[in-house]
Amino acid sequence: MSNEKQRREALVYHAKPQPGKIKVVPTKPYATQRDLALAYSPGVAEPCLEIHKNKEDVYKYTSKGNTVAVISNGTAVLGLGNIGPEASKPVMEGKSLLFKIFADIDGIDIELDTEDVDKFIETVKIIAPTFGGINLEDIKAPEAFEIERRLKEELDIPVMHDDQHGTAIISAAALLNALELAEKKMEEVKIVVSGAGAAAISCTRLYQAFGAKRENIVMLDSKGVIRSDRNNLSSQKAEFSTHRKIDTLEEAMIDADVFIGLSMADVLSPEMLKTMANDPIVFAMANPNPEIAYDLAIKTREDVIMATGRSDHPNQVNNVLGFPFIFRGALDVRATKINEDMKMAAVRALADLTKEAVPEQVNITYDTTRLTFGRDYIIPKPFDPRLIAKIPPAVAKAAMDSGVARSPIKDWDKYEEELLQ
Ligand code: NAP
Ligand code: MG
Repeated sequence: MSNEKQRREALVYHAKPQPGKIKVVPTKPYATQRDLALAYSPGVAEPCLEIHKNKEDVYKYTSKGNTVAVISNGTAVLGLGNIGPEASKPVMEGKSLLFKIFADIDGIDIELDTEDVDKFIETVKIIAPTFGGINLEDIKAPEAFEIERRLKEELDIPVMHDDQHGTAIISAAALLNALELAEKKMEEVKIVVSGAGAAAISCTRLYQAFGAKRENIVMLDSKGVIRSDRNNLSSQKAEFSTHRKIDTLEEAMIDADVFIGLSMADVLSPEMLKTMANDPIVFAMANPNPEIAYDLAIKTREDVIMATGRSDHPNQVNNVLGFPFIFRGALDVRATKINEDMKMAAVRALADLTKEAVPEQVNITYDTTRLTFGRDYIIPKPFDPRLIAKIPPAVAKAAMDSGVARSPIKDWDKYEEELLQ
């Protein structure tokens, strides 16, 4: 499709038949006078009084428990940069659409007109009673780190900045599977991370939680290798600085087992790829154009295990595999947070699901004959109906085991059935 045709199609899609992608729909009868007397005055006073007596009843009588706020200030939108709150609204509406279709969660998009960290946090805290969870989105680093950290501390509902953790969770699942195929161990592999932004930092932290060793990691930003003797490093970058006396990506790539790209298009050359160890794992996730083009990487090394952020190649690292199902599991046990255990449970569930036989329905949707665990299939596909049955229970169970579930699940079979409805 030509770019101009695509542009026009996208604009018409958003404008017609009514502007935007999301609307509010009542869930109770409203046809008669009696219905209205229950929905609003005087009937509505009864649940108000119950909730006033016991605040937790807000989950029983309102939609709080199934509503997630998708909140941005528009400072780091897709790859478009700081385009402001209004211009970020289509993305946040899109996210709400994905919450709905994949996990039946009502996502309400909220765009805030502030770049001030304290004002942002204060505003989210003030509106938090409305929501069962908060999905922070497209907020630039380093502000995003502090906003998420403080909101997690100060609120008793799940808060997740998806640009950090979504990518981390999906790519970690893909990495576990790629390492299995390459017959290598997380504890031993040499990892090069191109990029030191929100996504790269949180991905690398999660790989560490799965065993990656700090001394085996080299991270690069726009100035080159992040060496420990470099001046004025942010605390996040200092966390991954190396003592090795190297400066360039070219040097870092020699004998590396894993390349993680969360930076810019085309920074990885075929020559560098050639210097990697056997069965090199290359996750080139810059969007829309990866650090090395898929076809070029495959042509350069037959043994490469490759993933990108794109849907037109195998192994797409796509956040939609994560956030709908993680929030579903968190909401269903009324978790007070989304903690490391819950994220790691989602990673393992995604990795494991890839190794199970793929339903025919998924092959048909993706127009392939036979998806099976292997180099071209290291992560599930988004339209896989098993995701909703497998990921939320794993997250919910991890919430219960780690003591953050306020409403534990008792009957797991029944829960799985409900998820599939
Ligand atoms: P970000 O916070 O703006 O970070 C970008 C990072 O890339 C910065 O650390 C920057 O260095 C570094 N960088 C720029 N040019 C570089 C170069 N030539 N070599 C090495 N590093 C370089 O952005 P982000 O949210 O982390 O996203 C980064 C990229 O990953 C984007 O392309 C985004 O689309 C992609 N991404 C993909 C997915 C996915 O699922 N596929 C998910 C999230 C993000 P400085 O710190 O020196 O500025
Ligand atoms: Mg985003």
